[in-house]
Amino acid sequence: MDDRSIYLKQLELGPMQNFVYLVGDPVTRQCVVVDPAWEIDTIVETAAGDDMTLIGALVTHTHQDHVGGSLASWGMPGRIPGVEELLAQVATKVYVHKAEREFLPGLGSDLVRVDNHDTLDVGRLRLTFLHTPGHTPGSQCFLVDGRLISGDTLFIGSCGRTDLPGSDPSQMYYSLTQRLGALPEDTILFPGHNYVGASSTIGDEKRENPFMRFAALGDFLKVMGGPRS
Ligand SMILES: [Zn+2]
Repeated sequence: MDDRSIYLKQLELGPMQNFVYLVGDPVTRQCVVVDPAWEIDTIVETAAGDDMTLIGALVTHTHQDHVGGSLASWGMPGRIPGVEELLAQVATKVYVHKAEREFLPGLGSDLVRVDNHDTLDVGRLRLTFLHTPGHTPGSQCFLVDGRLISGDTLFIGSCGRTDLPGSDPSQMYYSLTQRLGALPEDTILFPGHNYVGASSTIGDEKRENPFMRFAALGDFLKVMGGPRS
């Protein structure tokens, strides 16, 4: 497929440099949204303005800056609108990795638990879920038409934190070097935050991102923290 065969819109929303994505088929006019945490009105209006119908919300992981929710556990006041607000506006399914299902309570039948290598058809496009634990137990990336939406697993030049509750640096090593490292070099990378730019490629990250270049788990753990006892 060439560029005209996919609809992909990258929106930088909220105060934490999050990238929210709309991904869909420009022929059937169906799309999904990735990590609808901030500015739900903007997300819904952007899809509608592009004449696209939202058929699903995909969750890379359940940190509040990606799905919304109370900030109390971060010691901050307030609430991010997130998935709940989206569902109040649009009737749609929410796809979350099965390891983090319990972090999205109250969604009932709107919630779909997915696992590694599951697929979702969005019009003529087939999207594949890749389980990439490490930042969180149920972190996942989405592969569609040679593009990878990577959440907080792989950033341009770095990777997600592995010192948070539920993080596992050993799993992050394997997610980066085995699962994502096995993708074709020309796979276009779309990260979950705008830390240093909008996109990269897997090939460039394998050459230049130090976190994808550790030859052995032990070397990675010396930098990222050893196994917790
Ligand atoms: Zn996160």
